[in-house]
Amino acid sequence: MRRVNGEEWRLPEPDSEELRALVPGTVEQRIYGFLFRRRQHPPTMAEIEAFAASQAGRHATHVNRRVRVLRECGLDVPAIRDGKEFRYHLKGWRPGGPRHPGPRISDKLRAQILAPQRCAQCGRTPLDHGVVLVVDHKVPRDWGGGDEPENLQPLCEQCNGGKRSWYQSYSGHADEIRAAIGHEEVHRRIGELLKALQGQWVPTELIGIVASAAAYQEDYQKRTREFRTLDWEISVEKRYNEGARVRTYYKCTHWEPWPEGSISAEIRRRERANKAAKTDGTA
Ligand SMILES: [Zn+2]
Repeated sequence: MRRVNGEEWRLPEPDSEELRALVPGTVEQRIYGFLFRRRQHPPTMAEIEAFAASQAGRHATHVNRRVRVLRECGLDVPAIRDGKEFRYHLKGWRPGGPRHPGPRISDKLRAQILAPQRCAQCGRTPLDHGVVLVVDHKVPRDWGGGDEPENLQPLCEQCNGGKRSWYQSYSGHADEIRAAIGHEEVHRRIGELLKALQGQWVPTELIGIVASAAAYQEDYQKRTREFRTLDWEISVEKRYNEGARVRTYYKCTHWEPWPEGSISAEIRRRERANKAAKTDGTA
């Protein structure tokens, strides 16, 4: 049990199975152990480097980056000034607890994604607002999202934290969402998501993520409404009381089996037929 109460998380013991599950990389795990044992007397970067060299030989390079990996795992490791030096304090977990950094994104790719220096969600910047930007996976790794640039964006830590807890609220449907994302046709991705969450209000952000998993979809809300052409029952609701933004939700209460062949072709065919029927009626 890492979670002590609510948002409190306990630090794993060095060399434990728990640590190995939370922190990738043996050098990082050893540096964690060093910081853990030195919590009462936090080391400088020079001391961490000397320790890493004693463990891994002369080639224990990028020690700075390895400390950053620990931070990316959700650990709170602030560098606190002590005279002319900085000491690295292993304080615990940051709000939200452990994260799964998975395979590392290269420094080059990270720099490329963070280059706009602006949170893609709230628009705040490190320069003007003092926020810390992190690389966010639009489609989370748990749902099959990868490290390709199209799936990455800069988010401030606050937006990133909010997004992660939001994702966790769908963790019970992770398998179905991953399956929905795996379909090639955008309509099938959206439809399978709505089927998985049938009877529930689904926020457009979630539909957008699932719709845009293979390639960015600008018109995913229109795609969602098109299901009505296929005789699906889809309700729409706008909510104004959720912070500054208006949130749109969709709910599917009835769905039909998928047509043979292309779904979008079937929608277009039915739209033409409906239009023709309407024209006949008014003529
Ligand atoms: Zn933000």
